[in-house]
Amino acid sequence: MSTTISQLENLYSQQTLSTFFDISGLHSDSGESISSSLESICQKAENGITINRDEALYLNELDYNNLLRLLLSASEIRNKGKGKTLSFSKNVFVPVTRLCRDKCGYCTFKIEPGEGELLIPPDEVLEIARKGAQLGCTELLFVTGDKPELKYKVYREALNELGFNTTAQYLIDLSEKGLKENIFPHTNLGLANTEELEQFRQTNPSMGLMLENISDRLLYNGQAHHGCPDKVPKLRMKTMELAGELNIPWTSGILVGIGETCEERIDSLFALKRLNDEYGHIQEIIIQNFSPKVGIRMENQPSPEFIEMIKIVAISRLIFGEQMNIQVPPNLNLETYPYFTLAGINDLGGVSPLTIDYVNPEAPWPQLDKMQQMCEENGFELKERLPVYPEFINDKYINKELLHVVSNFVDDTGFVAQQEETDGRN
Ligand code: SF4
Repeated sequence: MSTTISQLENLYSQQTLSTFFDISGLHSDSGESISSSLESICQKAENGITINRDEALYLNELDYNNLLRLLLSASEIRNKGKGKTLSFSKNVFVPVTRLCRDKCGYCTFKIEPGEGELLIPPDEVLEIARKGAQLGCTELLFVTGDKPELKYKVYREALNELGFNTTAQYLIDLSEKGLKENIFPHTNLGLANTEELEQFRQTNPSMGLMLENISDRLLYNGQAHHGCPDKVPKLRMKTMELAGELNIPWTSGILVGIGETCEERIDSLFALKRLNDEYGHIQEIIIQNFSPKVGIRMENQPSPEFIEMIKIVAISRLIFGEQMNIQVPPNLNLETYPYFTLAGINDLGGVSPLTIDYVNPEAPWPQLDKMQQMCEENGFELKERLPVYPEFINDKYINKELLHVVSNFVDDTGFVAQQEETDGRN
């Protein structure tokens, strides 16, 4: 038996490993002859030294015999920084408006006027917030299309009737009101300016914007982001830089399988790494797989293969090191998400007892008890977090008044305190 396998067996259950081998096509006798280049890259990463682009690309080309060594490294680096804790958050998902000025090739979220509500009115949003809080949710996840006010007159008029000119202004107001319902807004607005971000910061302990990919090529005719002014990579990076200047804990990540090359995928991870090295505000990296759906422009494009996802997740762990929180959305990988633990993830994302994932409506959320069972089988502790991760709950990242409210929800580890410990929060 190879050393790699026996080390993995110390970390994961036989059941998890054998199912993983079934799904991945790998064999448990893999890893017998590890290349010296791979060994030195893994050791470098395990010693806390960031791997470089060439090394990441080398890892991306690993054959099956060597892949287990990469997984072992990703697991050990995760364990060093995060222990054997897997986090999740309880959220309610609010698609404030599904109108959007962009035309992403993979989108099923966007609607046109006449195909549904122009926007969810404030009373309905607050009802969702209230119900979510009653069910123990702590995250009020606001998702919108990008800047529909610049494209649709009828939407502009609907916003004006509510007293707003932009979607951002509406969300800032909803965030203020939502917070009063004892649930924390986490807004995914799209591109934003400093003034808007400053206002969101008053009520959102964290926010998010996926980079998706750093390549301008995906904007070209026929590519996934053709006709999407909000998907220009340098504009997305700029929004995240502004957030960094304001110390807003930020969730970002990449989309895998939207027509990008392996190099573009790796370059996207390094772009986020550089951003975080400069500002330190990236709290979480999501590695999200494209999922084809009937009726979208990319309906015939396949999802990335499981093994491709496993590789890029493990490479992400080696690029970002032990401190980064890394998530693969479980609802897009319902059968396979437990096996991404082997590639170094430490977060299982948002789980909602109330609302569906409107961006991927075909994908139900994994049940909490199944997540719990998976954790127990593999020696992990499942811990509930707020939308903001524990290490960002301090006065550098959260303003004083909001920090006071946040502190009422967490224990001294920064994870969500059990209800009996939080009598004062409601
Ligand atoms: S920006 Fe979002 S909502 Fe708009 S088209 Fe792209 S994926 Fe859909």
